[in-house]
Amino acid sequence: MEIRSGGTRHVVSAEQFPPALLEALFASAGEMARRLRAGGPPLLPGRVMATLFYEPSTRTRLSFESAMLRLGGQVVSTENARDFSSAIKGETLEDSVRIVGGYADCIVLRHPEEGAAARAAAVSTVPVINAGDGRGEHPTQALLDLYTIRSELGRLEGLRVVMAGDLANGRTVHSLIRLLSQYRGLRVTLAGPEELRLPAPAVQALRQSGAEVREAQSLLEAVVDADVVYQTRIQAERLSQPLAAAGQDAARFRVTREVMAALPPGAVVMHPLPRVGEIDPEVDSDPRAAYFRQARNGVPVRMALLASVLGE
Ligand code: ASP
Repeated sequence: MEIRSGGTRHVVSAEQFPPALLEALFASAGEMARRLRAGGPPLLPGRVMATLFYEPSTRTRLSFESAMLRLGGQVVSTENARDFSSAIKGETLEDSVRIVGGYADCIVLRHPEEGAAARAAAVSTVPVINAGDGRGEHPTQALLDLYTIRSELGRLEGLRVVMAGDLANGRTVHSLIRLLSQYRGLRVTLAGPEELRLPAPAVQALRQSGAEVREAQSLLEAVVDADVVYQTRIQAERLSQPLAAAGQDAARFRVTREVMAALPPGAVVMHPLPRVGEIDPEVDSDPRAAYFRQARNGVPVRMALLASVLGE
């Protein structure tokens, strides 16, 4: 399994993962899940991963760190690089990445600006893994999302997926759509507030891939024949002004008991988390609520990715 972009094994975009590579990665993630239960010899002894996060994170940073530790590697970390690294003194991202590359064998980077991971990769001597660049992409979240769909439903073709919430600014949506669009028979229903619609180039790319794209005015209407409901939160930190209307609109796109009653029995509800009201906690006990299982999949999937990026 090879992940390459240019000469180094950077992971910048979901576009780098064709189906054959995804299959290999998911097989390896399955092995990693077994290793988590049964143990095994360290796979990356003596290797060091740096996490350089200029934006808040719970799941992504901790699951990457846990993954590296479980592989027998070590971690150096700055969880609030915006305030606690030399960024506050005016150091550029490029210089910080050059420096951290001297201390670690790979850099997991989260940054508020779209394109930051590509900029970092352009100057880095060690692999850079994009852990979210503004409203751009979040490729490793998409990997664990697709892995979750595959393990929950047992297939990736002929899927009927509802993408709900903030489709304009949700980077996990942008990356997941890129992965999904490689599979036959995809139908995507877009269900979100008017002001937060999926950007036109992404809709066009979906259609060009052969996917059917629909829009729905409410989640209740969208879910009736869905296999996957992928819910997201409104990315308030990326909005230039508060979207009062979108907030009101959001009520039509909440996952509630009523929505669950309309959802087919074999379907799943997913969310990259954190949720801030768009899934009613009453829904958590429904076996179709897959979001906590999805979050747990972050560790084996990131173990597989790190083993691939840092392995021989
Ligand atoms: N945790 C995801 C991200 O970093 C989703 C979110 O924050 O809404 O993009």
